[in-house]
This record gives sequence, structure tokens and C-alpha cells, in this order.
Amino acid sequence: MRRIVVLGAAESGVGAAVLAQKKGFDVFVSDMSVIKKQYKQMLDEYGLIWEEGHHSENLILNADEIIKSPGIPQEAPIVQKALQKGIPIISEIEFAGRYTNAKMICITGSNGKTTTTSLIYHIFKNAGYNVGLAGNIGRSLALQVAECDFDYYVIELSSFQLDNMYDFKADIAVLMNVTPDHLDRYGFKMQNYVDSKMRITRNQTADDAFVFWNDDPIVTAELKKYNIKAQMFPFSEFKGNGAIAYAENGQYVIEQPTPFNMEQEELALRGKHNLYNSLAAGITANIVGVKKEVIRQSLMDFKGVEHRLEKVCRVNGVDFVNDSKATNVNACWYALESMRQPTVLILGGKDKGNDYTEIMDLVKEKCRGLVFLGVDNTKLHQYFDKVGLPIADVKSMKDCVDECYKMAQPGDCVLLSPCCASFDLFKNMEDRGEQFKECARNLK
Ligand code: ADP
Repeated sequence: MRRIVVLGAAESGVGAAVLAQKKGFDVFVSDMSVIKKQYKQMLDEYGLIWEEGHHSENLILNADEIIKSPGIPQEAPIVQKALQKGIPIISEIEFAGRYTNAKMICITGSNGKTTTTSLIYHIFKNAGYNVGLAGNIGRSLALQVAECDFDYYVIELSSFQLDNMYDFKADIAVLMNVTPDHLDRYGFKMQNYVDSKMRITRNQTADDAFVFWNDDPIVTAELKKYNIKAQMFPFSEFKGNGAIAYAENGQYVIEQPTPFNMEQEELALRGKHNLYNSLAAGITANIVGVKKEVIRQSLMDFKGVEHRLEKVCRVNGVDFVNDSKATNVNACWYALESMRQPTVLILGGKDKGNDYTEIMDLVKEKCRGLVFLGVDNTKLHQYFDKVGLPIADVKSMKDCVDECYKMAQPGDCVLLSPCCASFDLFKNMEDRGEQFKECARNLK
């Protein structure tokens, strides 16, 4: 019996183990850390053999193939040893892709993946399609392939997931953008990260589709190097340069394959970045053949995704918006760009080498005041003190929301779009967003 070892026992690893067992492999699961209770329970329910807290080399290096969690870097000693022994290492998505004939719709990019993936899924559900949502969101693809029988999968893919994909093919590949991120995992070489994102087009044929943001200089430069066989569907903010979808005179327009338009004002998601996300989702649905009325209605009634420019509440005329997911400067730029009211902006957290120059003009133009929420706000002061706006330093969400509320005037917006990771004061970005919402609602 062929032996499969799964490294990392979280959502993707456990799903892969269940599928591998179902397909008759001898399966072993190993995790260097403590496995979460829910996943242990699942492994036990399926009678899978697992270990935690260490990697037993004698049980791992006898594998015919290893399925590695995207969280484990290539440099990890066990991965290096496996590679030296010539054991193929693949991702859970690569493995699951072998066992389904469903159409694969795959979304990647530095920003906008979750929103676009969720929006595509929303349109497909409204259209009555038999569709699964997978990848970074929801249940793993492997588990769904093991337990369900979908006709389509809408899959959010990070660069880490793309790294160990070889034969997998996306029927529709969507590339939102490429801006610097995760460079620590790519030898601090931007090109390595870019190459990883471009893997989304790997194995595509002339029957497949490649949807991408035509205004991204990195993506368009890459296209010249690749011999992409898929049909191209470039989208842009403006008409021209070969874009097949764009905004023009207040209209949201898709030219191909089926001409479609609607009022831009009617789109549920606001902001320039969300125009891109709505275009990418609309084109994808259009390619698959979803009816125009369904696309239009779905783009209008989509509720958005939690922690992404999420409207929380209005307290005495002050709006509170949670964009806790904005963990890099580029994401905050788009959030600020979309603001139509004077804004009290919350910045701070764990800085990933940020250069705040990118948002300086928007801060000057749109902000009423700034509140720095972090253990160490020195760098923020270095950048923003000279702007001359009121600034407050806080170390808890309660104090943060109180300060913001003091600074704001009726008609203003308080925006949490912090440019930074949350790990200095919070468990994760969800925890930061939840606390923000709770404190804002408690003001009432
Ligand atoms: P991802 O899953 O790639 O992290 P999300 O959809 O969760 O992307 O959005 C993360 C943040 O990035 C949001 O808070 C928003 O401010 C910003 N954002 C969303 N879509 C885009 C886009 N198309 N381009 C740039 N920034 C975006």
C-alpha cells in the first residue's frame, strides 16, 4: 500500500488525511505543534494515526509522497530531509485536485482574495449552482472532495498553497494583484513571490480562462514572459489598453464573453478596490454562463465579508467601520480612498517593515485625527506627527474606541484599518475586529 504522510494537522492537513484514507492509502499525520481539539477529534473519528509536538523521522521519511500544510516553510528541517530523500512534496489542493472532475475556479493575489472568492461563491449560489467554497476559507478542498460531490469549487489560494502545486489546473484563474507581502518566506526576493502567484496559470489550456487586473504593472510585465495559453480576460478601472471589463461614466461594464452592464452606484461593495473585486467576480460568473439578472442582483445584495470594510454601527451620527483585515499599507490605502466622510483612522500593531508614505496624502486629505493602537507606536509618530492632526496613543481597544469617539464629530467615520498585524495586543485580526465592534456597540 502506498504511504502518504501529512505534515501539519489543521484544516487542510486533516482534510487531506481523510481523503487519502478514503482513497486507500496508508496515512500518517504529524504536527510539530499541539493539534487543535477539533482536529484531533476528527482524526480519531476517522481512525487516522497521528502524532503531535514532534516529527518522528522514521515514520515520515518512509512516505511515497508528503502533503505539506502551507504554513510549514520549505526550509523546515523535516521538509529538507524529505527533499534530500527525493520524496515528492505536494499541497492539499494538488492532492484533492486528482480526485475530482469539478470545475476549478481559483483566486489569488496579494489583496482581495477573500472578498472576490466570497462574492463569486455568492453569485454561484444565487444562480442555483452546486458549488463548494474552499482554500483559505471554510472547509478544506480535500475534505469536500472526500465527502461531497460539487460541480464547481471556488477556491481562495495563497502563494504558499500555489508553491506545492504541479499538475493542478484552474479552469478559471483569477489574479487580483501582486504587491510586496510575505517576503520573509521568499528569500526576501520579490520575484520569487511573483513567480509563486503566476503559478495560478500553470497547466492552463486554450479552453481555460485567465482573469487579471490589467492595471497592475507587475502582472502585466510578467505576462510578457509567460506563454499563457488560456483565454485572457483583463479588467481595469478604465476603458482602454485591451481591458474587457471596466467602469465608464458611472457604469460597470463587461464586454466579453456576454456584454453586461449596470449602474456602478448599485454595487453592494464600495471603494475602488471593491470595483476590481466586483469586476473579477462578474467576469468569472459571466464566463461560466450565469444569467445577467442573477449577476446583477448578486452584485447588489452581497453583504460583504466580516472584518473587510464592515459597517458596524452608527452612534450619535458617528459611523464605525471595521477593516481589521487591512494588515498592510496597500489595503489601508484602498480603505481610506473609499471614505466619503471625515475619518478618524486607527493605525498600529505589529509592523511588517511598513512604509507609510503611500497613505500620507490620503491621511492629509481625509483624516480628522489618528489613534495609534499598539505596544510601540514610535514609527507611526515618526511618519505622522508632522501632519499636524490630533493624535492619541492607546494600548487597549476600549481606550481606542473612546478616544476615537471623542475626536469624531457627527457625520464622521471611525475606521479601523491599521496597516499592521494584530499580534502585539490581540490573538489575531479577527479578535481585534471583534473587540472593536463590541466596544463601538457598547458606546450606544
Ligand atoms: P485577502 O484575502 O487577499 O487578504 P481580503 O478580501 O480579505 O483580501 O481584503 C483584505 C484587505 O485588503 C481589505 O481589508 C481591503 O482593505 C483590502 N482590499 C480588498 N480588495 C482589494 C483589492 N482588490 N486591491 C487592494 N486592496 C484590497
